[in-house]
Amino acid sequence: MTGAGCPNYNECALVRGKLALEGDVYRYYIDSYCCGEEEEWLGCMRFKAKEKLNFCPDFVLPDSVMTIDQIIDRFDMDNN
Ligand code: SF4
Repeated sequence: MTGAGCPNYNECALVRGKLALEGDVYRYYIDSYCCGEEEEWLGCMRFKAKEKLNFCPDFVLPDSVMTIDQIIDRFDMDNN
């Protein structure tokens, strides 16, 4: 499969620059995940969270090692 890019590209908060990342970190994620081959964006934790939860909190990054349950717990803590 050629790198058509992540289906969430146009709406993802990371891509839209809302996560306040350093420029080189931003570029790394875009190149390594968002614009990568299917197996790359399929491996993105933000993609997985969106699939499972239908949204992805801003604290989740493509290479975050959190489980979905940990993401929910952190989101609940941050919003209580
Ligand atoms: S950060 Fe993840 S979910 Fe967002 S566009 Fe990139 S690969 Fe897709």
